[in-house]
Amino acid sequence: MDTSRPADRRKLKEYEKLRHRMVEEQLISRGIRDPLVLRAFRIVPREFFVPSFLKNSAYKDAPLPIGRGQTISQPYIVARMMEMLELSGAERVLEVGTGSGYQTALLSHCCDVLYSIDRIEAFVKKARKALDSIGLFKPFLYTGDGSLGYPSKAPYDRIIVSAAAPLLPRPLIDQLAEGGVLVMPVGDEWGQKLVRAVRKEGEIIVEKNEGCLFVPLIGEGGWKEP
Ligand code: SAH
Repeated sequence: MDTSRPADRRKLKEYEKLRHRMVEEQLISRGIRDPLVLRAFRIVPREFFVPSFLKNSAYKDAPLPIGRGQTISQPYIVARMMEMLELSGAERVLEVGTGSGYQTALLSHCCDVLYSIDRIEAFVKKARKALDSIGLFKPFLYTGDGSLGYPSKAPYDRIIVSAAAPLLPRPLIDQLAEGGVLVMPVGDEWGQKLVRAVRKEGEIIVEKNEGCLFVPLIGEGGWKEP
């Protein structure tokens, strides 16, 4: 997109309108209240993170395919998970499952330092490009098995995983700082629960929330490659 061209500027304005409508109709109306999360959703252009043939569907109330059988999650689910992280803006965060980079962009507006890892290098490269194109240079992106976390930068104040595992992966729990929070879908391939785990004085407190459906986390702490 070339913002010096009137037609492109008009398009950007149209997307902006759709984005604000998405925040009202899909997030606020369903109870998302965290001002940091809502602000990030008002800023980040989702159309930069969906395949070009789906740009007109960028603000739909639905997950969208991003290739290789993976999906960019429904905006509401992303907002719900981010709200469960209770970010203040000062945290060091690990995101597992970069995918399109959309959630990476949202998170980078809500924390201090952000590391994001995906097992598929092509996604990481594409996400980097999309993030650069909107001026978000802050997140560190890596390729690798994020079901093992990313030990060299641990511990993390927050960990968010956008792929489902049968159990909470031990390495992720181990890489949580004191007071740290992990949010991820846990269950089987037909359905999962959004689980929130908090490390408090050496104990791990686990809370199960609403149902959801995510693609599988493939790796040592998840499922075997199909
Ligand atoms: N948050 C993403 C959605 C990603 S879909 C977005 O906003 O677009 C799930 C992603 O998890 C896929 O990109 C998939 O490659 C990745 N994934 C699956 N298993 C993984 C693993 N063990 N480590 C890192 N990434 C993994």
